[in-house]
Amino acid sequence: MQFDYLIVGAGLYGAVFAHEMTKAGKTCCVIDRRDHIAGNIYTEKKNGINVHKYGAHIFHTSDREVWEYVQKFAQFNHYINCPVARYGSELYNLPFNMNTFSKMWNIQTPAQAMEIIERQRKEAAVENPSNLEEQALSLAGRDVYTKLIKGYTEKQWGRDCKELPAFIIKRLPFRFTFDNNYFNDPYQGIPVGGYTGIVEKLLEGIPVYTGVDFKKAVREVPVEDGNVFEWNGDTFAKVLYTGMIDEFFDDCYGPLEYRSLHFESEELPDVDNFQGNAVVNYTEREVPFTRIIEHKFFEFGKDSETGEPIKGTIITREYPATWEKGMEPYYPVNNEKNDAVYEKYRALAAEKKNVLFGGRLGLYKYFDMDKVIRASLDAVREELA
Ligand code: UDP
Repeated sequence: MQFDYLIVGAGLYGAVFAHEMTKAGKTCCVIDRRDHIAGNIYTEKKNGINVHKYGAHIFHTSDREVWEYVQKFAQFNHYINCPVARYGSELYNLPFNMNTFSKMWNIQTPAQAMEIIERQRKEAAVENPSNLEEQALSLAGRDVYTKLIKGYTEKQWGRDCKELPAFIIKRLPFRFTFDNNYFNDPYQGIPVGGYTGIVEKLLEGIPVYTGVDFKKAVREVPVEDGNVFEWNGDTFAKVLYTGMIDEFFDDCYGPLEYRSLHFESEELPDVDNFQGNAVVNYTEREVPFTRIIEHKFFEFGKDSETGEPIKGTIITREYPATWEKGMEPYYPVNNEKNDAVYEKYRALAAEKKNVLFGGRLGLYKYFDMDKVIRASLDAVREELA
Protein backbone atom coordinates (compact mmCIF):
# COMPACT_ATOMS: atom_id res chain seq x y z
CA MET A 1 0.00 0.00 0.00
CA GLN A 2 1.07 3.57 -0.63
CA PHE A 3 0.65 5.91 2.36
CA ASP A 4 1.00 9.66 2.32
CA TYR A 5 2.81 9.83 5.68
CA LEU A 6 4.82 7.62 7.94
CA ILE A 7 4.73 9.24 11.35
CA VAL A 8 7.69 8.32 13.50
CA GLY A 9 6.80 8.74 17.16
CA ALA A 10 3.36 8.29 18.72
CA GLY A 11 3.80 11.20 21.14
CA LEU A 12 1.67 14.30 21.23
CA TYR A 13 3.20 15.99 18.17
CA GLY A 14 2.95 12.90 15.99
CA ALA A 15 -0.56 12.02 17.19
CA VAL A 16 -1.96 15.51 16.53
CA PHE A 17 -0.33 15.52 13.10
CA ALA A 18 -1.66 12.04 12.24
CA HIS A 19 -5.14 12.96 13.43
CA GLU A 20 -5.36 16.21 11.50
CA MET A 21 -3.85 14.80 8.34
CA THR A 22 -6.24 11.85 8.41
CA LYS A 23 -9.14 14.26 8.87
CA ALA A 24 -7.90 16.10 5.78
CA GLY A 25 -8.06 12.87 3.76
CA LYS A 26 -4.39 11.85 3.88
CA THR A 27 -3.34 8.31 4.70
CA CYS A 28 -1.09 7.94 7.73
CA CYS A 29 0.67 5.16 9.56
CA VAL A 30 2.35 5.64 12.94
CA ILE A 31 5.32 3.79 14.40
CA ASP A 32 7.01 4.15 17.77
CA ARG A 33 10.03 2.39 19.16
CA ARG A 34 8.57 2.13 22.64
CA ASP A 35 6.02 -0.56 23.36
CA HIS A 36 3.24 1.96 23.95
CA ILE A 37 1.79 5.13 22.47
CA ALA A 38 1.69 8.64 23.99
CA GLY A 39 5.45 9.24 24.35
CA ASN A 40 6.34 10.98 27.59
CA ILE A 41 2.78 11.92 28.45
CA TYR A 42 1.96 8.22 28.86
CA THR A 43 -0.03 7.50 32.01
CA GLU A 44 -0.92 4.08 33.34
CA LYS A 45 -3.66 3.29 35.83
CA LYS A 46 -2.57 1.38 38.91
CA ASN A 47 -4.66 0.82 42.05
CA GLY A 48 -7.07 3.53 40.85
CA ILE A 49 -4.23 6.04 40.38
CA ASN A 50 -3.16 7.42 37.00
CA VAL A 51 0.61 7.19 37.23
CA HIS A 52 2.59 9.71 35.15
CA LYS A 53 5.21 7.20 34.00
CA TYR A 54 7.62 9.76 32.56
CA GLY A 55 7.26 12.49 35.16
CA ALA A 56 4.63 15.01 36.13
CA HIS A 57 2.67 16.52 33.25
CA ILE A 58 0.40 19.43 34.01
CA PHE A 59 -1.43 20.89 31.09
CA HIS A 60 -1.42 24.69 31.00
CA THR A 61 -1.78 27.18 28.20
CA SER A 62 -2.60 30.73 27.20
CA ASP A 63 -3.50 29.56 23.73
CA ARG A 64 -7.28 29.42 23.56
CA GLU A 65 -7.37 27.45 20.34
CA VAL A 66 -5.10 24.78 21.83
CA TRP A 67 -7.22 24.66 25.00
CA GLU A 68 -10.38 24.20 22.98
CA TYR A 69 -8.61 21.60 20.86
CA VAL A 70 -7.65 19.36 23.80
CA GLN A 71 -11.17 19.57 25.24
CA LYS A 72 -12.28 17.49 22.25
CA PHE A 73 -10.20 14.56 23.45
CA ALA A 74 -10.56 14.70 27.23
CA GLN A 75 -12.38 16.33 30.05
CA PHE A 76 -9.98 18.36 32.21
CA ASN A 77 -10.23 18.69 35.97
CA HIS A 78 -9.57 21.91 37.89
CA TYR A 79 -6.10 20.94 39.15
CA ILE A 80 -3.85 23.94 39.74
CA ASN A 81 -0.18 23.20 40.22
CA CYS A 82 1.11 24.54 43.55
CA PRO A 83 4.39 22.73 44.21
CA VAL A 84 6.17 22.94 47.52
CA ALA A 85 9.96 23.20 47.77
CA ARG A 86 11.86 21.50 50.54
CA TYR A 87 15.27 22.80 51.55
CA GLY A 88 16.52 20.74 54.50
CA SER A 89 13.70 20.90 57.02
CA GLU A 90 12.33 24.14 55.60
CA LEU A 91 9.27 24.17 53.33
CA TYR A 92 8.55 26.94 50.85
CA ASN A 93 5.73 27.61 48.43
CA LEU A 94 6.54 27.88 44.76
CA PRO A 95 6.68 29.67 42.41
CA PHE A 96 8.51 32.60 44.00
CA ASN A 97 5.75 34.65 45.60
CA MET A 98 4.77 36.40 48.83
CA ASN A 99 4.27 33.08 50.64
CA THR A 100 7.85 32.14 49.73
CA PHE A 101 9.27 35.52 50.78
CA SER A 102 7.30 35.66 54.01
CA LYS A 103 8.67 32.26 55.03
CA MET A 104 12.20 33.11 53.89
CA TRP A 105 12.52 36.40 55.81
CA ASN A 106 9.65 36.38 58.28
CA ILE A 107 8.16 39.45 56.63
CA GLN A 108 4.53 40.30 55.99
CA THR A 109 4.18 42.84 53.18
CA PRO A 110 5.20 43.19 49.52
CA ALA A 111 7.08 46.40 50.37
CA GLN A 112 9.28 44.51 52.85
CA ALA A 113 9.94 41.72 50.35
CA MET A 114 10.77 44.20 47.59
CA GLU A 115 13.19 46.05 49.84
CA ILE A 116 15.11 42.89 50.72
CA ILE A 117 15.22 41.66 47.12
CA GLU A 118 16.27 45.08 45.87
CA ARG A 119 19.14 45.15 48.36
CA GLN A 120 20.27 41.67 47.34
CA ARG A 121 19.98 42.54 43.67
CA LYS A 122 22.26 45.56 44.18
CA GLU A 123 24.77 43.40 46.04
CA ALA A 124 24.81 40.94 43.15
CA ALA A 125 25.42 43.88 40.76
CA VAL A 126 24.26 42.13 37.61
CA GLU A 127 23.68 44.52 34.72
CA ASN A 128 22.57 42.42 31.79
CA PRO A 129 21.96 38.80 32.86
CA SER A 130 23.67 36.49 30.40
CA ASN A 131 23.25 33.16 32.14
CA LEU A 132 20.87 31.43 34.55
CA GLU A 133 22.77 32.43 37.70
CA GLU A 134 22.83 36.10 36.78
CA GLN A 135 19.20 35.99 35.72
CA ALA A 136 18.13 34.35 38.99
CA LEU A 137 20.19 36.75 41.13
CA SER A 138 18.85 39.79 39.37
CA LEU A 139 15.29 38.49 39.61
CA ALA A 140 15.12 37.11 43.13
CA GLY A 141 18.32 37.99 45.01
CA ARG A 142 20.87 35.81 46.77
CA ASP A 143 18.70 33.99 49.38
CA VAL A 144 16.07 32.67 46.97
CA TYR A 145 18.78 31.75 44.49
CA THR A 146 20.84 29.86 47.08
CA LYS A 147 18.01 27.95 48.75
CA LEU A 148 15.53 27.35 45.95
CA ILE A 149 17.29 27.61 42.60
CA LYS A 150 21.00 26.83 42.59
CA GLY A 151 20.98 23.26 43.97
CA TYR A 152 17.87 22.18 42.10
CA THR A 153 19.04 23.61 38.80
CA GLU A 154 22.57 22.25 39.02
CA LYS A 155 21.40 18.71 39.69
CA GLN A 156 18.60 18.96 37.13
CA TRP A 157 20.94 20.07 34.35
CA GLY A 158 24.23 18.55 35.58
CA ARG A 159 26.15 21.75 35.13
CA ASP A 160 26.87 25.06 36.81
CA CYS A 161 24.13 27.72 36.70
CA LYS A 162 26.63 30.01 34.95
CA GLU A 163 26.71 27.60 32.03
CA LEU A 164 22.96 27.52 31.55
CA PRO A 165 20.77 29.83 29.49
CA ALA A 166 18.73 32.44 31.35
CA PHE A 167 15.45 31.46 29.69
CA ILE A 168 15.14 28.28 31.78
CA ILE A 169 14.50 30.22 34.97
CA LYS A 170 12.17 32.65 33.20
CA ARG A 171 9.75 29.74 32.87
CA LEU A 172 8.79 30.30 36.52
CA PRO A 173 6.57 33.18 37.64
CA PHE A 174 7.93 35.64 40.16
CA ARG A 175 5.31 37.75 41.90
CA PHE A 176 4.62 39.90 44.95
CA THR A 177 1.18 38.46 45.62
CA PHE A 178 0.12 35.48 47.75
CA ASP A 179 -0.45 33.29 44.72
CA ASN A 180 0.99 29.76 44.61
CA ASN A 181 -0.16 28.95 41.08
CA TYR A 182 2.98 27.69 39.30
CA PHE A 183 1.71 28.99 35.97
CA ASN A 184 0.44 32.33 34.72
CA ASP A 185 -1.68 30.78 31.97
CA PRO A 186 -5.46 31.21 32.13
CA TYR A 187 -6.14 27.56 31.26
CA GLN A 188 -4.87 24.65 33.34
CA GLY A 189 -5.86 21.13 34.36
CA ILE A 190 -5.21 17.41 34.21
CA PRO A 191 -7.21 15.17 31.86
CA VAL A 192 -9.61 13.09 33.89
CA GLY A 193 -8.46 9.47 33.54
CA GLY A 194 -4.92 10.41 32.44
CA TYR A 195 -3.16 11.45 29.25
CA THR A 196 -2.96 8.17 27.37
CA GLY A 197 -6.66 8.42 26.49
CA ILE A 198 -6.05 11.67 24.62
CA VAL A 199 -3.51 10.02 22.34
CA GLU A 200 -5.71 6.94 21.93
CA LYS A 201 -8.52 9.17 20.70
CA LEU A 202 -6.22 11.16 18.42
CA LEU A 203 -5.00 7.93 16.83
CA GLU A 204 -8.38 6.23 16.53
CA GLY A 205 -8.69 4.46 13.18
CA ILE A 206 -5.05 5.05 12.23
CA PRO A 207 -2.67 2.07 11.95
CA VAL A 208 -0.18 2.26 14.81
CA TYR A 209 2.76 -0.10 15.36
CA THR A 210 4.72 0.05 18.59
CA GLY A 211 8.11 -1.55 19.17
CA VAL A 212 9.28 -0.48 15.70
CA ASP A 213 12.57 1.39 15.41
CA PHE A 214 12.67 3.71 12.40
CA LYS A 215 16.43 3.49 11.96
CA LYS A 216 16.40 -0.30 11.99
CA ALA A 217 13.17 -1.00 10.12
CA VAL A 218 12.62 1.75 7.56
CA ARG A 219 14.72 2.44 4.48
CA GLU A 220 14.70 5.24 1.98
CA VAL A 221 14.56 4.10 -1.63
CA PRO A 222 14.97 6.17 -4.77
CA VAL A 223 12.05 6.25 -7.20
CA GLU A 224 11.71 7.93 -10.56
CA ASP A 225 10.86 11.44 -9.33
CA GLY A 226 12.47 11.45 -5.88
CA ASN A 227 12.56 9.14 -2.88
CA VAL A 228 10.04 7.19 -0.87
CA PHE A 229 10.35 5.37 2.43
CA GLU A 230 9.66 1.68 2.62
CA TRP A 231 8.64 -0.42 5.60
CA ASN A 232 6.89 -3.74 5.90
CA GLY A 233 6.12 -3.87 2.17
CA ASP A 234 4.39 -0.46 2.25
CA THR A 235 5.73 2.79 0.85
CA PHE A 236 5.43 6.28 2.25
CA ALA A 237 5.68 9.49 0.27
CA LYS A 238 6.74 11.51 3.31
CA VAL A 239 7.96 11.01 6.83
CA LEU A 240 7.22 13.06 9.92
CA TYR A 241 10.12 12.32 12.25
CA THR A 242 9.74 13.21 15.93
CA GLY A 243 12.83 11.41 17.20
CA MET A 244 16.22 13.00 17.81
CA ILE A 245 17.26 15.02 14.77
CA ASP A 246 20.96 14.28 15.26
CA GLU A 247 20.23 10.55 15.32
CA PHE A 248 18.28 10.85 12.08
CA PHE A 249 21.38 12.24 10.40
CA ASP A 250 23.68 9.67 12.06
CA ASP A 251 25.27 12.38 14.23
CA CYS A 252 27.08 13.75 11.17
CA TYR A 253 27.72 17.12 12.89
CA GLY A 254 28.35 15.46 16.25
CA PRO A 255 25.81 14.56 18.91
CA LEU A 256 23.51 17.11 20.53
CA GLU A 257 23.29 17.05 24.31
CA TYR A 258 20.18 15.94 26.17
CA ARG A 259 19.29 15.53 29.80
CA SER A 260 17.85 12.26 30.94
CA LEU A 261 15.83 11.19 33.96
CA HIS A 262 15.54 8.09 36.05
CA PHE A 263 12.33 7.35 37.96
CA GLU A 264 11.92 5.24 41.07
CA SER A 265 8.34 4.50 41.99
CA GLU A 266 7.08 3.10 45.25
CA GLU A 267 3.65 1.69 46.00
CA LEU A 268 2.64 2.44 49.57
CA PRO A 269 -0.59 0.50 50.20
CA ASP A 270 -0.73 1.49 53.89
CA VAL A 271 -0.13 5.20 53.39
CA ASP A 272 -3.05 7.34 52.23
CA ASN A 273 -1.20 10.64 52.24
CA PHE A 274 2.58 10.65 51.88
CA GLN A 275 3.38 14.31 51.28
CA GLY A 276 0.04 16.14 51.04
CA ASN A 277 0.76 17.50 47.57
CA ALA A 278 1.24 16.21 44.03
CA VAL A 279 4.70 17.76 43.66
CA VAL A 280 7.38 18.41 46.27
CA ASN A 281 10.74 19.70 44.99
CA TYR A 282 13.96 18.97 46.85
CA THR A 283 16.13 21.97 46.20
CA GLU A 284 19.31 20.94 48.02
CA ARG A 285 22.23 19.81 45.91
CA GLU A 286 22.95 16.93 48.33
CA VAL A 287 19.57 15.21 47.86
CA PRO A 288 20.04 13.16 44.68
CA PHE A 289 16.50 13.49 43.34
CA THR A 290 14.83 16.73 42.26
CA ARG A 291 11.24 15.97 43.16
CA ILE A 292 8.77 13.47 44.53
CA ILE A 293 5.46 13.11 42.74
CA GLU A 294 2.44 11.72 44.60
CA HIS A 295 0.31 10.86 41.60
CA LYS A 296 -3.10 10.54 43.28
CA PHE A 297 -3.15 14.27 44.06
CA PHE A 298 -3.27 15.20 40.37
CA GLU A 299 -6.84 13.94 40.68
CA PHE A 300 -7.49 15.11 44.26
CA GLY A 301 -6.87 11.68 45.77
CA LYS A 302 -9.99 10.22 44.15
CA ASP A 303 -10.53 7.48 41.60
CA SER A 304 -11.54 9.33 38.43
CA GLU A 305 -14.03 6.60 37.47
CA THR A 306 -15.78 6.00 40.79
CA GLY A 307 -15.12 9.30 42.56
CA GLU A 308 -14.14 7.26 45.65
CA PRO A 309 -11.14 8.25 47.80
CA ILE A 310 -8.16 6.06 46.90
CA LYS A 311 -6.66 3.86 49.61
CA GLY A 312 -2.87 3.76 49.62
CA THR A 313 -0.64 5.86 47.41
CA ILE A 314 2.08 5.74 44.73
CA ILE A 315 5.06 8.06 44.80
CA THR A 316 7.85 8.56 42.28
CA ARG A 317 11.28 10.02 42.92
CA GLU A 318 12.75 11.77 39.89
CA TYR A 319 16.52 11.60 39.48
CA PRO A 320 18.21 13.68 36.78
CA ALA A 321 20.80 11.78 34.78
CA THR A 322 23.48 12.38 32.20
CA TRP A 323 22.13 11.30 28.85
CA GLU A 324 24.06 8.66 26.96
CA LYS A 325 23.16 6.76 23.81
CA GLY A 326 20.40 4.26 24.48
CA MET A 327 18.84 6.30 27.29
CA GLU A 328 15.61 8.27 27.02
CA PRO A 329 16.33 11.90 26.08
CA TYR A 330 13.89 14.09 28.03
CA TYR A 331 15.24 17.60 27.74
CA PRO A 332 17.26 19.23 24.97
CA VAL A 333 20.04 21.34 26.49
CA ASN A 334 19.38 24.58 24.63
CA ASN A 335 22.62 26.40 25.33
CA GLU A 336 24.58 28.34 22.70
CA LYS A 337 26.86 25.48 21.78
CA ASN A 338 24.06 22.96 21.20
CA ASP A 339 21.80 25.46 19.47
CA ALA A 340 24.60 26.17 16.99
CA VAL A 341 24.98 22.45 16.23
CA TYR A 342 21.20 22.08 15.95
CA GLU A 343 21.17 24.95 13.43
CA LYS A 344 23.40 22.84 11.16
CA TYR A 345 21.06 19.88 11.43
CA ARG A 346 18.09 22.15 10.77
CA ALA A 347 19.71 23.38 7.55
CA LEU A 348 20.27 19.79 6.48
CA ALA A 349 16.67 18.95 7.36
CA ALA A 350 15.40 21.83 5.23
CA GLU A 351 17.02 20.22 2.19
CA LYS A 352 15.19 16.95 2.76
CA LYS A 353 11.91 17.66 1.08
CA ASN A 354 10.27 14.36 1.97
CA VAL A 355 10.97 14.53 5.70
CA LEU A 356 9.38 16.83 8.27
CA PHE A 357 10.74 17.16 11.79
CA GLY A 358 8.66 17.80 14.88
CA GLY A 359 8.38 17.65 18.65
CA ARG A 360 10.90 18.26 21.44
CA LEU A 361 13.47 15.95 19.87
CA GLY A 362 12.93 16.67 16.18
CA LEU A 363 13.01 20.45 16.71
CA TYR A 364 15.46 20.32 19.65
CA LYS A 365 13.34 22.64 21.74
CA TYR A 366 12.26 22.65 25.40
CA PHE A 367 8.57 22.64 24.47
CA ASP A 368 5.64 22.34 26.88
CA MET A 369 2.65 20.24 25.82
CA ASP A 370 0.57 23.17 24.61
CA LYS A 371 3.45 24.44 22.47
CA VAL A 372 3.84 20.97 21.00
CA ILE A 373 0.18 20.94 19.96
CA ARG A 374 0.45 24.47 18.58
CA ALA A 375 3.55 23.58 16.56
CA SER A 376 1.93 20.42 15.23
CA LEU A 377 -1.27 22.22 14.20
CA ASP A 378 0.82 24.89 12.48
CA ALA A 379 2.84 22.24 10.65
CA VAL A 380 -0.39 20.63 9.46
CA ARG A 381 -1.65 23.96 8.15
CA GLU A 382 1.61 24.61 6.34
CA GLU A 383 1.61 21.11 4.90
CA LEU A 384 -1.94 21.41 3.61
CA ALA A 385 -1.55 24.97 2.27
N1 UDP B 1 13.68 25.48 39.22
C1 UDP B 1 14.35 25.76 40.39
N2 UDP B 1 13.84 25.35 41.57
C2 UDP B 1 12.66 24.67 41.64
C3 UDP B 1 11.96 24.40 40.45
C4 UDP B 1 12.50 24.81 39.26
O1 UDP B 1 15.42 26.36 40.36
O2 UDP B 1 12.24 24.31 42.76
C5 UDP B 1 14.29 25.92 37.96
C6 UDP B 1 15.19 24.84 37.35
O3 UDP B 1 16.27 25.49 36.72
C7 UDP B 1 14.29 24.19 36.33
C8 UDP B 1 13.52 25.40 35.81
O4 UDP B 1 13.30 26.19 36.98
O5 UDP B 1 15.02 23.54 35.31
C9 UDP B 1 12.21 25.08 35.14
O6 UDP B 1 11.40 24.37 36.04
P1 UDP B 1 10.09 23.62 35.55
O7 UDP B 1 9.35 23.15 36.76
O8 UDP B 1 9.37 24.49 34.59
O9 UDP B 1 10.73 22.39 34.78
P2 UDP B 1 10.17 21.01 34.22
O10 UDP B 1 8.94 20.66 35.00
O11 UDP B 1 9.95 21.21 32.74
O12 UDP B 1 11.30 20.07 34.49
